[in-house]
Order: sequence, then C-alpha cells, then structure tokens
Amino acid sequence: MKGKMKAMVFYEKLNMKYEEIDIPQVGPDEVLVKVKACGICGSDIAYYWGMSPLETADGKGPLVLGHELSGEIVELGDLPKSLGLFKVGDRVAVDPLQYCNACEACKKGQVNLCEEKIVTGVSVNGGFAEYVKSKYTTLFKLPENVTYEQAAFCEPLGDAIYAVQKLEVTLGDFCVVIGPGPIGLAQAQLIKSSGAGTLVVIGTRDYRLDVAKNNGADHVYNIKDSASKYYTSDITKKISDLTGGKMADRVLVATGNPESMKIPFDISGRRSIIVFFGLPGENDVVEVPALQSIFWDKTIKFSWLAPLTWPKAINAISTKLIDVESLVTHKFKLEELVSALEKVKNRVGNPMKALVIP
Ligand SMILES: [Zn+2]
Ligand SMILES: [Zn+2]
Repeated sequence: MKGKMKAMVFYEKLNMKYEEIDIPQVGPDEVLVKVKACGICGSDIAYYWGMSPLETADGKGPLVLGHELSGEIVELGDLPKSLGLFKVGDRVAVDPLQYCNACEACKKGQVNLCEEKIVTGVSVNGGFAEYVKSKYTTLFKLPENVTYEQAAFCEPLGDAIYAVQKLEVTLGDFCVVIGPGPIGLAQAQLIKSSGAGTLVVIGTRDYRLDVAKNNGADHVYNIKDSASKYYTSDITKKISDLTGGKMADRVLVATGNPESMKIPFDISGRRSIIVFFGLPGENDVVEVPALQSIFWDKTIKFSWLAPLTWPKAINAISTKLIDVESLVTHKFKLEELVSALEKVKNRVGNPMKALVIP
C-alpha cells in the first residue's frame, strides 16, 4: 500500500517523535496489518530510557517500538495470497518474533532461539504506528469472541504460558509466584487453573497484590512495605507455617529483582521445581545453595519467550481461562505514547498493562 502513516519514531534515549513516515511495503512473504491495539512492555520503557539497546544492527534507532500488537490485515504479499491462508479483513494477533523456520534452532522447534529472527518493534519497525508489516508465518487469526485489545496481550501471555508449562504443576501442588506484574498475575491465574492446591503471590505493591487476590491467589504477601496489610518480614516462615514445614512444591520467579531472585531457594521444598522468568540486569548473579538443592532433589529452570505457545494464549483468552480485562488498566492514543511511558514507569494511576490504540 502506498502512502504515509502516523508513527511514534524512537531516535535515542528520551527522544521519540510523532511523525508521518512511509507505510511499510510488503515483501512476497509478508502481510500489512492495520494496528488496532499495541501493549506497552517493560522493555519499551527500557529502550526509551536507554537502559537497553535495540536489536537493530547498531543497537540504535530510528525505530518504531511496540511488539505486543493485534490488528486487521489490509494487504497480502504474493505468497500468503497464493496459499489462501489469510485474506484482507482478517483479524490477527502478530507474534513479534518472526522466526525464520529454516535455521537449526527453528528446525528443532526451538523457535524462541532462532538465529535469523526479525523482531517487530525491536529490530524492525513495530506497532506504535498505524500500520505494521510482518511475515505471514507469525500471524494468528483471532476467534470472534477475542477483541483486539485482548489480543494485544497474546505476546506476554504466550511467554507466561511457556514458563508455566515448565513449572509442571501437578494436582494439589503448593505454588508460589514472586512478582505480580501483568505477566506474573496472568501466570498466577494459569497456575491456579492448572490444578494448584494453594497459590501464594509475593510482591511489593499492594494494588497488584489486590488484583492477585481477586484472581485466585489464596494468600498474598508484601515483603517490602511495612505499612501494608499484607506485610511480612519473614516470608520463609510464612511459607513454612502454611505448608507445615514442607515448603513450596513450585516457585515461579516473575521478577528480575536480584533480591527477590534469592527467595525461591529458601521457600521451596523436596522435589520442587523453580522457574526463573523475570529478566535481571546484565551482570546480576543468583547464588544457589548447592548442597541443600541437591539433598532436596530440586529442579531449577529458566524460561525465555513463547515458543509455539501462541495458539494456547489465544485459546486461554477465548475460553476465559485468563481474565485479560483485570490486567489491562490504561489506554492511550498513539500521540500520547511518551506520556504513557512516563506514567507506566512512574506507576501513575497504579498501572498494570497499558495499551496504545492508534
Ligand atoms: Zn514485551
Ligand atoms: Zn530460525
């Protein structure tokens, strides 16, 4: 499609402009999508404040950010057209991880580790614009009962699901989620519906713990704010009391806070599984009490992105396994993106997930 579109172009730290740029031209294996909703992610905040480089060739802008998006197909490249898999007007969620399907990792199904990946909104222009282009192979059609705003949550939800799969919850398990951000809270819902016996959510902000309580957590604890009604100064003792000394069967660490990343070793029990999901800083190190972990036969795992979990994410929304509405708290116009990023960063209005609606 020829013509111009509105977009928020990120140039460098604290420099993003609302501009008119060319509508992306689709290649043979690509599709043009009119963006209907695009979530603001913690990594967008990291890019805007210069805390993290982009995945462009030189790590810098100019680039349109935004990788949690949904929209309507407006143009098809030759390949998806001839295959008949999509048509103009289809409602889709866009997986930003455009894996190549041809490298060694992809051929083993490890698409999150694709060596030739293109990432919408991170290495190529993304969803904080009127239009975005993507390979047809990483688009997912939406069921009628899934809205564009819900579908913008597919990317974080796909990540959430992959980590919860790795947690291998079995019926009746005593489960703990540390870090009630939007993804941690989605994970709490998934864990509860996977058959957890007791679910504990540990955090540092009451407004998020309140959401956790309303979404199936049996107990919530605030480990930082001594004025909180959920405050505890000794989370290990709390978990010990709740489990009769057996400690937790499953612990999901959905925060990258180095202090919180020490907690799982103290609160996990025999044959427990710990999954690290939240992103720490580049130089952060987690110390593992090795002997105790061996004696108790613990399993420690790490989880990265959302390999092949998108159909499950769409299903989880469509079947109401996940209540996305409780997690999406704010909506902004495209031209308000900078102030939206500031509000999310400074937690103005107790944000969970914020969406941009172009
Ligand atoms: Zn993200
Ligand atoms: Zn690949």
